[in-house]
Formats: sequence, C-alpha cells, structure tokens
Amino acid sequence: PVEQRDESPEQTPPAPLPKGMVIGPDGKPCRSCSSGAAFKSWSATMKGSPVPPKSQATLVPASDCPPDVEELGRSSWTLLHSITATYPVQPTPQLQNETKSFISIFAKLYPCWHCASDFQAWMKEDGNAPRVSNRDEFGRWMCEAHNAVNVKLGKKEFDCGKWEERWRTGWKD
Ligand code: FAD
Repeated sequence: PVEQRDESPEQTPPAPLPKGMVIGPDGKPCRSCSSGAAFKSWSATMKGSPVPPKSQATLVPASDCPPDVEELGRSSWTLLHSITATYPVQPTPQLQNETKSFISIFAKLYPCWHCASDFQAWMKEDGNAPRVSNRDEFGRWMCEAHNAVNVKLGKKEFDCGKWEERWRTGWKD
C-alpha cells in the first residue's frame, strides 16, 4: 500500500510584530499607522538583515520615503492648526458648515486607520463636536483634539491658551 503523507510544507509561525507596528485593514503592514522605528525594524527582519545597532542606525528618516505615523501626524497637525490660524474671526454660516464637513471628511480619510477611527469616536463624545463659530473657538477646539491624542500617546498636554502664539502670531518674548 502507498503510504499517505502530508506533503504540505511545514508552517513557520510568523515573526512577532515589533511594538508600534500596525497591520492595516487589508492585512498588510500599514506604514502610515506604524511608528517609523517599528516599521524599519520589521522591514529589516523581513529582509533577513540584522537590525542595525542604535548608534549606527540612521536616526533621521529619508525625506523621500512614504510617511510613518509620526511624520504624517506632524504634517497633518501643521495643516490643521494653520487652517484654524487663518480662519475668519467672523465666518459666514456657509463657511462654518463647510468647515464641519471638512473635519468630518478629513477624519474619514485620514490615512492611519486606527488614528482616524479614534478621532471620529472622540468627536462623538459629549462636548467634542467641532466648534467653528469663530477663529478662537476653532483654534481651541483643534488644540483640544490634538491634546486628546497627546494624552492617548502619554505626551504632555499643550496649554490651549497659547494655541494662537504657537500657530498664528509667534511667541511673545
Ligand atoms: P505633534 O503631536 O505632531 O505636534 C506637533 C507640534 O504641535 C508640537 O511640536 C507642538 O509645538 C504643537 N502641539 C502639540 N500639541 C498641541 C496642541 N494640543 N495644540 C496645539 N499645538 C500643539 N499617532 C499615533 O501614534 N496614534 C494615534 O492614534 C494618532 N492619532 C492621530 C490623529 C490625528 C487626527 C492626527 C492628525 C495625528 C495622530 N497621530 C497619532 C500622530 C500624533 O498626534 C503625532 O503627530 C505624532 O506622534 C508626532 O508627534 P510629535 O511629538 O512630533 O508632535
């Protein structure tokens, strides 16, 4: 009798993902959702090359690579706070509606899926819906939104009384 053998190749368990590495909804590693350091470490493991020791690693990421979660975040906050800084002191009702739509669509399209989902959830909480009836209100709301992420990431909260100095007028000496 012919011996029945299982011809399927031995399954090697996948390497554990480094901390800060996030998988996207498509099941693939998500660069814009992961920290740069985690992505780099994961890529090196996948290529079979050892992760360079910290002292030899390039600490400044190449500027022409797709953004990781930190770079995307910094650029996005720069855009968002700058929009509040140039927002009218007395916006028309139409602009206020357009601004609310912009924030809602932004929160849906934000490339880091878990950031987008948490941002949407935060805006649904009591008192967190976008406040856009004038520049100061919108600037403070954006600052609070940013602080919610700062808290989530264990970072220091920013003093929202200073949002305008940081993003519009520059620091008072
Ligand atoms: P950033 O937090 O990017 O801040 C840039 C500069 O803004 C700071 O240097 C400071 O001068 C100023 N600033 C800081 N706080 C405030 C504030 N409250 N108001 C006004 N100005 C301020 N990253 C994750 O890892 N997980 C997430 O879930 C996540 N969610 C995000 C959701 C959104 C909508 C956005 C836009 C970004 C998110 N990020 C997330 C990215 C994260 O917020 C940071 O941008 C990233 O970690 C880089 O941080 P950073 O310390 O360089 O400075």
